[in-house]
Amino acid sequence: MAAPAMVALDAVLGEKIANPPMTGQAPALISIQKVSKTFLAVSGARIEALQQVSLEIPEGKFISLLGPSGCGKSTLLRIVAGLERATAGAVRIGGSEVTGPNAGVGMVFQRAVLFPWWTVLENVLLATRIQSLDARLMRSRAQELISLMGLGGFENSYPRELSGGMQQRAAIARALLHDPSVLLMDEPFGALDAMTRERMDVELQSLWEARRKTVIFVTHSIPEAVFLADRVVVFSQRPATIAGIVDVDLPRPRTIGMLDSAQLGDYTRACRELLGSASSSL
Ligand code: ADP
Ligand code: MG
Repeated sequence: MAAPAMVALDAVLGEKIANPPMTGQAPALISIQKVSKTFLAVSGARIEALQQVSLEIPEGKFISLLGPSGCGKSTLLRIVAGLERATAGAVRIGGSEVTGPNAGVGMVFQRAVLFPWWTVLENVLLATRIQSLDARLMRSRAQELISLMGLGGFENSYPRELSGGMQQRAAIARALLHDPSVLLMDEPFGALDAMTRERMDVELQSLWEARRKTVIFVTHSIPEAVFLADRVVVFSQRPATIAGIVDVDLPRPRTIGMLDSAQLGDYTRACRELLGSASSSL
């Protein structure tokens, strides 16, 4: 069994990690170049969330982002989504600099944030109210995505009639409606119970196999990060820098049984070590 590839930050020289190219891959679809972000708190304090983060993400790859709470993971995702501006550095998607929200990007948050007075179908169709999209085409796409996410028969149900897992599936269908090339997921299964979460991980993996979006997936769960990803990027404590990268060379499709496998255990240990050294280096 090949040992997990691991690149540790050269803290002594203060060098930022050089993103090793993913073998035999196309050029990056998402290019994050020396992105820094400093917030000005209401108290006047400066909060440095990200420090010169650089990442190259090839098209169709699944990247998990792991890091201590409050280190800047959501901030980075919001910058990639164009919901927040970087203080320095730039993000490019398909060569174009991100300067605001972009129709090529779908986002899923920890809470499904469905409108309670809308049905599942109406919630999934949200983008049609914001962008001028062909209503008939979008309706049939919404139906297809609802079935794909295992919600067939619940089109006319209201969010309160769905379980947490079902609500999150509706949120994923909504994010995919306009067929974005990039899917950003910020701890999407963090509020679910452990068993539902494992099932959602397996389903997300099948969805990704079928649709091949380029995904950045933020999570607190090391096994979840490894199970889903081609590459796990581990962040340091705030301000986030890249503490290390673990390339996951497990066969696909990945099955639920793999969550307990020794192979996956090797990768989770490598991530845990990177997280540990990132925390203790402060
Ligand atoms: P994570 O997602 O890794 O838990 P965040 O990206 O949400 O972390 O936040 C990183 C840091 O930036 C935190 O210390 C947080 O308090 C701070 N922060 C995030 N958004 C704002 C904001 N709008 N104003 C001030 N500080 C913020
Ligand atoms: Mg967060």
